[in-house]
Amino acid sequence: MQQTLTGCAFCDAPPGAETGEAHTWGQDERVTHPVCVDCAIQVEPDPDERDHFACDGCGLVVDALAALTRFRVELGHLEGPLQLCEHCSPGGLATYWTRDLKEHLVATPAE
Ligand SMILES: [Zn+2]
Ligand SMILES: [Zn+2]
Repeated sequence: MQQTLTGCAFCDAPPGAETGEAHTWGQDERVTHPVCVDCAIQVEPDPDERDHFACDGCGLVVDALAALTRFRVELGHLEGPLQLCEHCSPGGLATYWTRDLKEHLVATPAE
């Protein structure tokens, strides 16, 4: 990822919008992406089924949390987790502890 970008890494929000930081673990070091307010507070409720988890970006459902990348978001006073699929996560899945999304895909969001 380009470190020079200061806009939101999760959507098209331009540089200048208020951003916080989203942290996750990459191959061997912590990576940080800028995240805007809208992306930081987006939440897709997890399905009722046990062990099913929804991507907070697009609502796609998987049967293993490891198929999503979890971010720790810090933005002002706001702090919380974000879990995103490889399509919504900048740079794709955060590598070393995540699993292949396709093997765990349960449902894709309605268009
Ligand atoms: Zn954003
Ligand atoms: Zn997604």
